[in-house]
Amino acid sequence: DKLKESKVYMRALFDYNPLDDKATPCQEAGLPFKPGDILQVVSQDDGTWWQAKKVGDSNLRAGLIPSKQFQERSFRLSRKDRQGSSGEANASEPGEPEFLTYEEVTRYQQRPNERPRLVVLIGSLGARINELKQKVIAENPHRYAVAVPHTTRPKKSHEKEGVEYHFVTKQAFDADAQNNKFIEYGEYKENQYGTSIEAIRSVQAKNKMCLVDVQPEALHTLRTGEFKPYVVFVKPRIPESRRRRSAATSPAGGEHGRITEEELQEMRQSAQQIEQQYGHLVDRVLIKEDSASACAELRGILERLEREAFWVPISWIR
Ligand code: 5GP
Repeated sequence: DKLKESKVYMRALFDYNPLDDKATPCQEAGLPFKPGDILQVVSQDDGTWWQAKKVGDSNLRAGLIPSKQFQERSFRLSRKDRQGSSGEANASEPGEPEFLTYEEVTRYQQRPNERPRLVVLIGSLGARINELKQKVIAENPHRYAVAVPHTTRPKKSHEKEGVEYHFVTKQAFDADAQNNKFIEYGEYKENQYGTSIEAIRSVQAKNKMCLVDVQPEALHTLRTGEFKPYVVFVKPRIPESRRRRSAATSPAGGEHGRITEEELQEMRQSAQQIEQQYGHLVDRVLIKEDSASACAELRGILERLEREAFWVPISWIR
């Protein structure tokens, strides 16, 4: 049976270091991994310790990793410990499993007759993802498009229904919001704005790749087999410390103008928070030096998305 190698692949959703693991039967035999690593599970014969290899690793020998069941148990126990001292519950996000252990994945390549994958941009403070999205689309409007948002504000004379916006009444907007038709919505100068799921579908129906920039919470709605979102996290490059940069040489200085140490700290925190909360849902991190290079990099990512195979949750394909 050992000859039949398992074809089970898992995306790791947590950080594992066998040297910190008191439960492992053998620290030297353990396989360390980081969230986002793809693991080929070569044996699940043992219910507690699986044998796995890291995809892309030159090391051909399999190592031990905790099984999904065992890791869930460990998480449950350590949560109980924490609750014992703080009494605080650790609620999981809607649509997410209770414990982030592994997600079974498979290779997926978009076929020419299939609808293009949705591209979701999320960004931390200072990333300016809307601008990035607009630029990349403007360069290639026949291939890429935005989902046309809804708004309750009056149409301006140069605007056309269905081009800049879908112009709707407040009642219609509220009804759509009530019925969960929007992936996100918000208010600006007493008018409401929102992007509907239908608006994404209508871009995909034209066989164009739809780019959305959203608050990361929207990922829970968008991560479905229908959209097969490819998630790009755009993070501005943030200089280490103010003292060590000069306005002339620092890319962040050039991109953001004069920024205070406090603002830099807020940018770091914003990036860190997204990483911690949503890092496991991110397919690609784009470090933004400046607008032009970030655009070029995003363009490259989109081109590869149409040509190459990527790992996606197996539940999207079945
Ligand atoms: P304008 O009325 O000038 O076209 O847009 C004003 C503002 O509305 C934009 O700068 C943006 O902040 C907001 N807005 C436009 N589309 C959307 C959307 O789909 N969702 C949300 N939450 N805000 C939007």
